[in-house]
Amino acid sequence: MNQFELARADSVADALAKIAGNEHARFIAGGTNLLDLMKEDVTRPRMLIDITHLPLSKIEDAGNGGLRIGAMVSNADLAYDDKVSQAYPLLSTAVLAGASPQLRNMASTGGNLLQRTRCYYFYDTGTACNKREPGSGCPARTGVNRIHAILGASESCVAVHPSDMCVALAALDAVVHVNGPRGERQIAFEQFHQLPGDTPDIDTSLAPDEIITAVELPAQGYAQHHSYIKVRDRQSYAFALVSVAAGLEMDGDTVRSAAVALGGVAHKPWRNREAEALLVGKKASDEQFQAFADAVLQDAQALEHNAFKINLARRTIVRALQRAVAMESAE
Ligand SMILES: Cc1cc2nc3c(=O)[nH]c(=O)nc-3n(C[C@H](O)[C@H](O)[C@H](O)COP(=O)(O)OP(=O)(O)OC[C@H]3O[C@@H](n4cnc5c(N)ncnc54)[C@H](O)[C@@H]3O)c2cc1C
Repeated sequence: MNQFELARADSVADALAKIAGNEHARFIAGGTNLLDLMKEDVTRPRMLIDITHLPLSKIEDAGNGGLRIGAMVSNADLAYDDKVSQAYPLLSTAVLAGASPQLRNMASTGGNLLQRTRCYYFYDTGTACNKREPGSGCPARTGVNRIHAILGASESCVAVHPSDMCVALAALDAVVHVNGPRGERQIAFEQFHQLPGDTPDIDTSLAPDEIITAVELPAQGYAQHHSYIKVRDRQSYAFALVSVAAGLEMDGDTVRSAAVALGGVAHKPWRNREAEALLVGKKASDEQFQAFADAVLQDAQALEHNAFKINLARRTIVRALQRAVAMESAE
């Protein structure tokens, strides 16, 4: 039996005091990922610190034209919020492409950022996994690796980040607000999740004694030209094989700025700003979009079972950009 103590935090300061120096404690928000990991024996925290009562459930104006989303805002409240769905429809669409209505009611914004990979070997405690037990090996490299990474992987780990919401947040250049014993700090979304390198057990730049308090969206929401496409094995209740969040600013038929993030292909939501620059100032066309996709995928590497993802990603990027220009409904 997995025994643990449950403590309730009444304020952010209280949450930080409870986790300080307590390496076996974890915050619990919606519990939709953490409890599964505990049931599967992937993780065994000795203390859970309930953060659901913290005053972090508001969506507020950030004062710079953007929005500040509290870490405890549920995925459902986020997706259906009027300001979010009007100014950041890319984010609403991506969130609604994830999980199920029941899960989205429970899942929190902070927890979504910190959900762990769906690599089969990570969940199977009968096998080795460098992410679960550093130094034990990566059976996915030579095993069943259909869902695994084509970009940014390492010898140690070929797992991918599973979130839909985070792909949109990467395209939107969100900023993660955190608080900890060393004070408050802000982390640019691109710096929040990490590539696996030699330390695949570390997913993010959040320290174990820090808490996410909010995610801030800048003013630019690409409301006029955006799309989120998620390609998966089943039409619902499945994680992305490949997903693409695209936001464009257009001057007539010329691209003024482009932000494109990919999910399902790497250990973090994947952006390639050099490739995005190729689109800027050009007339939107299939040829430009294909050249962009080729640039994004030029370093892609397939494992034995996932070569199909490279072509799938190429086609999904082009389709997402076409839809963003035309503003057809995606999904
Ligand atoms: C069957 C199923 C299908 C799913 N399908 C999808 C999908 O298609 N797309 C998708 O994107 N997601 C999917 N999910 C994942 C789901 O979105 C996540 O489980 C959820 O977002 C996690 O949020 P939570 O609040 O429940 O986190 P929890 O499970 O409570 O916590 C997750 C982690 O975050 C930490 N944590 C939580 N909040 C904070 C905070 N504020 N500060 C610091 N640490 C914190 C916890 O300690 C824990 O380590 C699915 C989940 C399930 C079970």
